[in-house]
Amino acid sequence: MAGGLVTWSPSVTLVPTQGCFNACSYCSFRVPLEQAVPLSQREALEQLQARPAAAEVLLLSGEVAPNAPSRGEWFSRLRQLSALALAQGRLPHTNAGPLSLREMAALGRLNPSMGLMLEGVGPAYDALHRHAPSKTLASRLAQLEQAGRLGIPFTTGLLLGVGESMEERVQALELLVGVQRRWGHLQEVILQPWRPDGEAARPLSPSEQADLLELIAMARQLLPPEVHLQTPPNLWPLEQLPAVLEAGINDLGGIDTVDVINPAYPQPAPEALRQLLVSRGWRLEPRTCVHRHWWSWLPAVLRRRVEQRARLLASGPALANAPHL
Ligand code: SF4
Repeated sequence: MAGGLVTWSPSVTLVPTQGCFNACSYCSFRVPLEQAVPLSQREALEQLQARPAAAEVLLLSGEVAPNAPSRGEWFSRLRQLSALALAQGRLPHTNAGPLSLREMAALGRLNPSMGLMLEGVGPAYDALHRHAPSKTLASRLAQLEQAGRLGIPFTTGLLLGVGESMEERVQALELLVGVQRRWGHLQEVILQPWRPDGEAARPLSPSEQADLLELIAMARQLLPPEVHLQTPPNLWPLEQLPAVLEAGINDLGGIDTVDVINPAYPQPAPEALRQLLVSRGWRLEPRTCVHRHWWSWLPAVLRRRVEQRARLLASGPALANAPHL
């Protein structure tokens, strides 16, 4: 039955570096490591100050190889940017590829939640990631387990429509079900339609939409109910969003002014989203980067920060101040 609560996170994306040692075949974000210009603290501060209503600071970074000489400097930047976000009253959420146990534990003290896509299971993913050493299934699964052992509320997800079979989709979802049964820390699973690179957006075709709606419904059946299902609203035709929610999505993720990964797909204005969804019987509410169910998992300092920011969100400034309305 239609109707219910849908959440979203007012978000600003900081890119510590676009330099990446992987070379995923679909990526238009990456620049070679030697050409990368890291984000300075001053630039980061300016970007935060330009978006006062953004509660979440998504730190979305290219990756440095685990044993590379520049790994330490890269990781220090992640810590410094996380600390800067907190100092500005924001909530960092880092997605920077696989981390060592020490690195993840250190960032977990500064980030209320973190994330890493599982991506998917099967030869279609192996082909896309032939030149991406950190994107093996084993490495990604190990990260989900590690985050669980550390008690870090975590967001993961699947990249869909790259040539995977239905059976492989089910296998991927069952892997996530197993992780969640062991640790209980998966707060969100993103079901992300893959879109080809290019200057112009290529909207999902009706058959692609039908296929994804079926997958969303299956994911909702398989995953435990506390796991939020998310999809990026800018990758769907706006008028289809009610059907997406009816299929099982209950979160629209972090919404920034621009989608850094898919810049050809404009973000919907939150107020337009709200009006559409309200007219179809849904409530759209802003949330922090960590869902309430996991607040009790957080170190006391982070929990206080989250509660403070949640009070601000509840008072309504996120929609009123969002600059892209
Ligand atoms: S890991 Fe991310 S940034 Fe690096 S090449 Fe792959 S998609 Fe691009």
